[in-house]
Amino acid sequence: MKAIVLIPGTTTVCLNDRTEPQISADDEVIIKVWQVGICGTDREEASGGRATAPANRQELIIGHEVFGLVEKVGKAVKKVRPGDFGVFTVRRGCGNCLACLNDRSDMCYTGNYTERGIKGADGFQAEYVVDQEQYLVKVPETITHLGVLTEPMSVAAKAIDEALGLQKSRLRDIMEQESWLQGKKTVVAGIGAIGLLAAFVLRLKGADVVGLDIVEEDSLRPQILKQIGGKYINGKHVKAADLDSRLGQIDLIFEATGIAELQVQLIQALGINGIYILTGIPEGTRQLLNLTGDLMKQIVLKNQILLGSVNASYAHYEMAVDLLAQAHEKYPEVISRFITDRIPFSDFQTALRKHSPDEIKVVVEWAKN
Ligand SMILES: [Zn+2]
Ligand SMILES: [Zn+2]
Repeated sequence: MKAIVLIPGTTTVCLNDRTEPQISADDEVIIKVWQVGICGTDREEASGGRATAPANRQELIIGHEVFGLVEKVGKAVKKVRPGDFGVFTVRRGCGNCLACLNDRSDMCYTGNYTERGIKGADGFQAEYVVDQEQYLVKVPETITHLGVLTEPMSVAAKAIDEALGLQKSRLRDIMEQESWLQGKKTVVAGIGAIGLLAAFVLRLKGADVVGLDIVEEDSLRPQILKQIGGKYINGKHVKAADLDSRLGQIDLIFEATGIAELQVQLIQALGINGIYILTGIPEGTRQLLNLTGDLMKQIVLKNQILLGSVNASYAHYEMAVDLLAQAHEKYPEVISRFITDRIPFSDFQTALRKHSPDEIKVVVEWAKN
């Protein structure tokens, strides 16, 4: 079978022949890959950045945002049968820490986890992939066209779920728990794939959403935001730190830009008792940021939380599938525009190297649906 293979630390990526995976244990599932999404992580890997080959090997099959058709299952598999659809999660626990021992490798303490397609384990950019049933998340047939968004949606789902949990617990005497986000003012900074998926989640939970980016107002991403009832602010014309003087009390900020300076500026716009979720990963090494006393004073006096969030647990993948189904129910036309580029696997270089301003999600097609 064909697979897209990278020599980590270099820009060498090619289409190679690999042996087709077989069922070698009763709890294994083989997926015939339909699509694999491309994100900043893949592009970073393909430009010589962060990526590790499996132990004792030079090459890594890339790709972590998989979706496909269940082709074959081992004897003990109960969750799915051939003909069902699903995705595999990305991270595999270190096997030692309390988080990983409790199926929460997304919270691993040691950092010794592996990640399929990223760190020490082959990924999913191939015609077939195999893994254990415990890492398989079923996707209903009604949303097969959105299945490839499950992994990025799981990242947004985790971050917002954590924020909700924290706010519900500390504000429990003040407001109703279940509807904490109802009518709240939220800002999504950076309306790429993760930011826009977060905007969908926030809208589905009843929040007002203002998206901040630097693209033209009439381009695709702001349009999509507006079609789900959000508002758009062009960051070229408004200072991030002054957003609150324009919008009033901001209860939640979801950051998905990875621009360190902007990440810090946004803290200043956060309202009283607000929560600020950071998901963007700035490039480069740790820098000395100019965190002034005023900023620290603000965080204390306004009861604020800064929350970093990465990866997702199995439960968040299930939440993601549910949220995609809800988005399909409520905004079927809009969510369908999310996959902007479908590129055949033979043309994978285009998927990895070309970047159009209207791009939201680029997917590599391995089989037609
Ligand atoms: Zn990704
Ligand atoms: Zn661990």
